[in-house]
Amino acid sequence: MDDLSRALDENLLSDLECPVCMQYMVPPIQLCTNGHNICSRCTESVRRCPTCRVEFSEIRNVALENIARRQKYPCANRQSGCLELLSIEHIAEHNAVCVYGKIKCPLHLLQMCSWNVLKSNLKEHVNAAHSDYFVEVSSFYIPQLSETLMIVTCFGEFSLTTKRYTMADCRVLFS
Ligand SMILES: [Zn+2]
Ligand SMILES: [Zn+2]
Ligand SMILES: [Zn+2]
Ligand SMILES: [Zn+2]
Repeated sequence: MDDLSRALDENLLSDLECPVCMQYMVPPIQLCTNGHNICSRCTESVRRCPTCRVEFSEIRNVALENIARRQKYPCANRQSGCLELLSIEHIAEHNAVCVYGKIKCPLHLLQMCSWNVLKSNLKEHVNAAHSDYFVEVSSFYIPQLSETLMIVTCFGEFSLTTKRYTMADCRVLFS
């Protein structure tokens, strides 16, 4: 058992998982008339309780909401080695920047590569697999769309120079 497992109450964490989306429930947490919980994201798409099939009530599980607010949660990339513990309102924020998270290779936009790599290994992958297109620059750089394909990295961010996709696509992927 590692230190992280010792610090976490796994049973409590599984009680805090939504039975529909299997993610940790963010308050408000609603109840069905038999007392099963569901997260606020899922009440919009699911009308009946997945456990007992009755309809959800407007009643909230305030005790569990309070526990959820105090609880520290492991990062979604825990299996890949992330040891961060986060409060419920910081999970999404952390997931967006976690270096243990996997992202798609920039060239998936052009269907030229289907690799998923750890964010921290993306540069290594691009350098090894796509060295023909890879350019690293060390000053602030705004990529220009051009006929020549280049993968440009600057300050840890990656962008593509290609007319086949709009700048917006590139920004979404790499920021
Ligand atoms: Zn849910
Ligand atoms: Zn139920
Ligand atoms: Zn993480
Ligand atoms: Zn690739």
